[in-house]
Amino acid sequence: MSDSRTEELAARLAETRERLDAALAAAGRQDGVDLVVVTKFHPVGDVARLARLGVRDLGENRVQEAAAKVADLSATEPDLARAVRWNMIGHIQSNKAAAVAGWADRVHSVDSVKVASGLDKGRGRAAADGDHPGVLPVLLQLSLDGDTSRGGVARDDLPALADHVAGLDHLRLAGLMVVPPLSGPPAAHFAEASRVAEELRRDHPGAREFSAGMSGDLESAIAAGSTCVRVGTAILGPRPVV
Ligand SMILES: *Cc1c(COP(=O)(O)O)cnc(C)c1O
Repeated sequence: MSDSRTEELAARLAETRERLDAALAAAGRQDGVDLVVVTKFHPVGDVARLARLGVRDLGENRVQEAAAKVADLSATEPDLARAVRWNMIGHIQSNKAAAVAGWADRVHSVDSVKVASGLDKGRGRAAADGDHPGVLPVLLQLSLDGDTSRGGVARDDLPALADHVAGLDHLRLAGLMVVPPLSGPPAAHFAEASRVAEELRRDHPGAREFSAGMSGDLESAIAAGSTCVRVGTAILGPRPVV
């Protein structure tokens, strides 16, 4: 079961894992870091290739595209579909949140009470239907510059959102996620986000995850304590233009 695309993905996956190991070593870290491979804009065939290569965590940032791929993989490759975990990493409209809870295994981009409540409702419904039992781990997406149009919750509003999520039956507050603002060095943004993640952990000790770092900046995210990087381009290549 090999084709040239599989070989390409395998090579880039190996290079990325080497980068992760080197970054952990450079930061003097003995622990590991989760790798979520971001497949957005790439076909479900690539998802299947990655799953066969042993990738467990896949990331998608658009609700409709993600739901279509999840359905497609379950229909065509049920064994692979059972082996992977879908990470929702992009903006969720509150009226779509309940549906996301039907297929997502982890959500990195919770940024409002409405989205959290929608996910909780959807998860409760799915559990009642026996479709997707289990509590849904969620991370709160932090907006560092307060420009919440790019997604994320402002720092001042984070504690209240965390308390709200912690009170929901079908969600588990797993940690903090950040996409650094475009201006300024990412290292400074990651350092600041890491402090916010620590504050969150103080109030909610179970919120241990810190999702930070993409293809271009994963080294500085790992230096700042990232526990989970989300890597697309470095593994799948440039996204097709739409
Ligand atoms: C697309 C995306 C990524 C991956 O970005 P690359 O630069 O392709 O590695 C990570 N996180 C989020 C939220 C994304 O939307």
